[in-house]
Amino acid sequence: MSIETTGLENRIIDRRGLMLVLSSPSGAGKTTLTRLLREEEPSLSLSISMTTRQRRPSEVEGVHYHFIDKDQFIAMRDRGEFLEWAEVHGNFYGSPKKPIEQSLTAGKDILFDIDYQGAQQVRANAPDDVVSVFILPPSIPELKARLQRRAEDSDDVIHQRLVAAKGEIDRWTDYDYVLVNDDLNRTFTRLKAILVAERLHRDRQLGLKTFIAGLVQDLSTSG
Ligand code: ADP
Ligand code: 5GP
Repeated sequence: MSIETTGLENRIIDRRGLMLVLSSPSGAGKTTLTRLLREEEPSLSLSISMTTRQRRPSEVEGVHYHFIDKDQFIAMRDRGEFLEWAEVHGNFYGSPKKPIEQSLTAGKDILFDIDYQGAQQVRANAPDDVVSVFILPPSIPELKARLQRRAEDSDDVIHQRLVAAKGEIDRWTDYDYVLVNDDLNRTFTRLKAILVAERLHRDRQLGLKTFIAGLVQDLSTSG
């Protein structure tokens, strides 16, 4: 069963799309959780970022990122084409506005894998539509081990990311939810629970007032 509830309420009440923002220090597991969530929930759009970072061996253009050079990035930024952008670990990253607007207009939820600077900007733009989740590693030795096991970055890059982790971990209070990603299955189950609950938030169920007015009306006429 899809994690989108199949309950009656979703057939009779339209929903406003939400923006689910995942952030974490590099290596804590957000790419893995993003992949699992999208496999189980294909209707969830993924915001595919633009980056000036070099492509990792396992990454595919247009699937994981759009890889562009610095001049292209700056031109897009200056044309106002990003909902948010930031410099992270010496590279530029940005979330292009157009596909995000298309998803939200279609009532689709959209998932972001972005850092705390981007999360702040998205929240400032649309405070009522953002649900933010911060993923922590169970320990620093495990974080280091995950970066090494992923085996896609050089030792220098891994070192740089571990140094940056301190400043990133300090941002945990900016987020609505915090998950310690020890056991992957348990973290994934908890992330799905957040999504299900947030989709059922009163303010996201458009037409709820009309639906309830109908119930009350039916009550008064049903004798
Ligand atoms: P991020 O996107 O946050 O940088 P990744 O999702 O790429 O992190 O995860 C880094 C590495 O850790 C990957 O090799 C992934 O398979 C592994 N990993 C992710 N979550 C867990 C977990 N709960 N337990 C063990 N390994 C994990
Ligand atoms: P990586 O290079 O490991 O893919 O990502 C490095 C960091 O950049 C991660 O914290 C990731 O969430 C963040 N990131 C990826 N895309 C974006 C984006 O579009 N905007 C911002 N602000 N951060 C991003």
